[in-house]
Amino acid sequence: MKGWSEELDRAAQAIAGAPEVALACHEWPDGDALGSMMALFHLCRAQGRSSLASWPEPEEVAPHYRFLPGLDATTPPARFPSEPAVMVTFDCGSIERLGKLQVAARSAHHLIVLDHHATNSGYGSINAIDPNAAATAVMVRRLARRLDWPLNRDAALCLYTGLVTDTGRFQYANTTPEVFALAQELAAFDLPIESITRELFEKSRFAYIQMAAACLTRMRLDAGTGLVSATITEEDLGRFGVALEETEGFIDLVRRTAEARVAVVARYAPDGARVSLRSMDGTDVGAVAVSLGGGGHAHAAGFTHAGSVEEAVELVRAALAG
Ligand code: AMP
Ligand code: MN
Ligand code: MN
Repeated sequence: MKGWSEELDRAAQAIAGAPEVALACHEWPDGDALGSMMALFHLCRAQGRSSLASWPEPEEVAPHYRFLPGLDATTPPARFPSEPAVMVTFDCGSIERLGKLQVAARSAHHLIVLDHHATNSGYGSINAIDPNAAATAVMVRRLARRLDWPLNRDAALCLYTGLVTDTGRFQYANTTPEVFALAQELAAFDLPIESITRELFEKSRFAYIQMAAACLTRMRLDAGTGLVSATITEEDLGRFGVALEETEGFIDLVRRTAEARVAVVARYAPDGARVSLRSMDGTDVGAVAVSLGGGGHAHAAGFTHAGSVEEAVELVRAALAG
């Protein structure tokens, strides 16, 4: 695979010559997936370029990302072009995470993969993947520079969302000088930093906080493997009236455990258990996730298990012990 810089040049060329650009991000999109995709969407529109943005079903967006501008102008996956001339995927480490949009991705004339997952398989015809980039949002900023497209406020807000979520509010090891430089450039668009932060990280419904409390009381700490684990079952969601997409931040409570090396949360979803892994001591949980059919980064990774949440936790325990 060529280097990401050369590949970004090719991506810019393909986009510059395209009448329409079809954008897609990974299923259950997070702040970086949505933010990086919607940023390029706004940049295309500002250039008078036809563009559409989509992600696989379910179309539900987690409540903390609903403030992102442009979400009301996105395209349901069923209306996504079946053979796009130029398609770009964002933050999506494997083609499977595109759900039904995989069909379009496989038929696209140019498939541009913008990503920062070290585990990315390079499934595009153009693969701009920099594992040292803190967020896919960083890749979009670099791409815009190559296209010579100026940023605008909507794009800046979207990029900031990707950057602040994937760096854990500028706290993780990926928070490099380049990250702060980009944050400075973006904040200059008069972004409402306080309200963005509250929407993304601080605000949850009362029902969610009560459910989280109930789930935390069942948290388990395994001294042998240093694993702290918790589950969110279908019953938990039902009893408190909480939607799955509201629970994305639950892992951030569990991973606070001082005695643990690795944190795992398995959440009930209709298609199986959605598992989040976090490493607090340098254990490569990305490798664990890959061995269990998922992917991610060394410090944060995940997979989906076609079975119960309890089973999913046991799979992780066994992988760490073995
Ligand atoms: P999460 O725990 O959902 O916040 O995800 C943490 C990291 O793992 C992110 O970088 C995700 O892109 C990645 N990840 C989560 N679930 C999967 C999956 N099923 N397959 C591949 N990567 C995943
Ligand atoms: Mn993501
Ligand atoms: Mn990301």
